[in-house]
Amino acid sequence: VLQQLGPRPDGSVPFSVEFNPPRDAAGEARLWRAAREFERLHPAFVSMTYGAGGSTRDRTIRVTGELARETTLLTVAHLTAVDHSVAELRSIVGAYADSGIRNLLVLRGDPPGDVLGEWLKHPEGVEYAEELVRIVRDLGDFHVGVASFPQGHPRSTDLDDDTRYLVAKLRAGAEYSITQMFFDVDHYLRLRDRVIAADPIEGAKPIIPELMPVTSLRTVERAEELSGRPLPAKVIERLRKAAGTGPEEDRAAVRAEGIQIATEMAQRLIAEGAPCLHFITLNFAKATSEVLANLGYSNAPAPAHA
Ligand code: FAD
Repeated sequence: VLQQLGPRPDGSVPFSVEFNPPRDAAGEARLWRAAREFERLHPAFVSMTYGAGGSTRDRTIRVTGELARETTLLTVAHLTAVDHSVAELRSIVGAYADSGIRNLLVLRGDPPGDVLGEWLKHPEGVEYAEELVRIVRDLGDFHVGVASFPQGHPRSTDLDDDTRYLVAKLRAGAEYSITQMFFDVDHYLRLRDRVIAADPIEGAKPIIPELMPVTSLRTVERAEELSGRPLPAKVIERLRKAAGTGPEEDRAAVRAEGIQIATEMAQRLIAEGAPCLHFITLNFAKATSEVLANLGYSNAPAPAHA
């Protein structure tokens, strides 16, 4: 991933996209459509999240491997410690390595079904992501990223502790972090300042901001669920205003406003020197492509490293 973070041939900042494991054959077809569309835009990398549940997990490992083998996309596999022994975690990393995947986003994960439910470590598993970073690094030549939280992890009340734990994951061998999605760029900038202040060496590692273009009022709820935080009042206000006062939400206007909000955030992040823009796509290419088009990205220049 690190090698992909330099400017693109036209000088633009790289971008990357996040996919979710498909649940069924139709979902799998949709994922492939999105992957092929993004392939033409030359993302720095694509990442595939890792969910709870046995059959989904098997499908995740298979589909992530196929993405890595059958596309030109540099594929980053997320890995979580939920309900896994260390032996199982090692064997999943081995399965990814067999597909040529060398980049992992190492996470602890949340208790199934409830982001803020009680965390129970697997009896033969790990307690924190930091331990899993060490395990993966000990397994060989893997490039590891971790999660960072612009407003602090939803479970933690103290931003200084939160920063310390992030620095510990970086010291354990993570090369970069990807943030939890946010809707106020100041939160990202403050996180970056906190990490540099806590440890200038680790603080120099890239912090990749995660964006999600909101395309309907329903996606607001999804965004709040995923980020574990309410959206800022001024963002909600803009979307509500676009929705109008009629009995039905003006969907086209909400979508246009959501794309505009993501575009403005991306512009500010680029101006502030963000190393890459990471987009949550929910396996649809359209909204992210529109934001990229607003930013002047086209499918024309193939980065030298693609
Ligand atoms: P950790 O770094 O282990 O932190 C967990 C909690 O423990 C935090 O509150 C932290 O402050 C605290 N902590 C850490 N170290 C210590 C310590 N030494 N002592 C005391 N407390 C400590 N979830 C999925 O299930 N699948 C995914 O694919 C996925 N992808 C994600 C991608 C990104 C970019 C992000 C930001 C999150 C993702 N998540 C995913 C969610 C993530 O798994 C949860 O937010 C999880 O609760 C925290 O994971 P972590 O890796 O940050 O855990």
